[in-house]
Amino acid sequence: MIQPALDLVIATLEKIREASDRAPRASRNVLAQLQSAHAVAASLAGARGLPIEQTTSNKAQSLASIRERVCSCTKCGHLATSRTQTVFGVGNPDAEIMFIGEAPGADEDQQGEPFVGRAGQLLTKIIKAMGFAREDVYIANILKCRPDMPAGSFGNRAPTPAEMQMCRPYLVEQIGIIQPKVLVALGAVAVEGLLGSRGTMRELRGRWHSYNGTPLMITYHPAYLLRNQSPSEKRKVWEDMLQVLERLEKPISEKQRNYFL
Ligand code: SF4
Repeated sequence: MIQPALDLVIATLEKIREASDRAPRASRNVLAQLQSAHAVAASLAGARGLPIEQTTSNKAQSLASIRERVCSCTKCGHLATSRTQTVFGVGNPDAEIMFIGEAPGADEDQQGEPFVGRAGQLLTKIIKAMGFAREDVYIANILKCRPDMPAGSFGNRAPTPAEMQMCRPYLVEQIGIIQPKVLVALGAVAVEGLLGSRGTMRELRGRWHSYNGTPLMITYHPAYLLRNQSPSEKRKVWEDMLQVLERLEKPISEKQRNYFL
């Protein structure tokens, strides 16, 4: 019963935000309590001997309810009118790893799924090399709408800090429901959207950070590897992923240790 109550609280806060000039505020303490209430709900289900599928299905239901709100979201008027569709996120609601990118590009906007273009295909290759299927992990972006481009121009642009701040609460909810063991932020823009602080990838990548107590690995965005094909940069990303596998206590084969993307 806790999760439907949380959904109600969140939906009410969304309505208050949309109806007034001032966004509703909650202290870190209250947010932590809401998140732990969700964790308690999940563990109670386990303690009562409810099948795992039940807990997974609760998570899927909660994600579906956020997806509905995202689908009709018009908080960024300019993006709501320019998007083909929203791009919510995809994967296992019980994923151990959650990959976080910055925003949908043209391919994602067309298909409604994150990381499906060339960069997405490279991410899928990395996930497979780690020993997972794409369906085993969860993939989402900070922004759920494609950043608009001037008429007649091609390519994608990075989301602005204001756009990311507006959309971030949806991602925070996704993380709270999925409760992955490890988060992987792809690129400096995703890090800024998630942590609210800027930094260079040289300083940030390759070591553990924390997002509200969840271990966070920061690595290069796959699009960077497509632009910079140098084996040493690819190896850095793979070494970051080896750290993720170690953190998850997954066995790592010799082939994986010596793997180059
Ligand atoms: S980017 Fe996010 S907050 Fe802005 S309109 Fe799209 S879904 Fe809503």
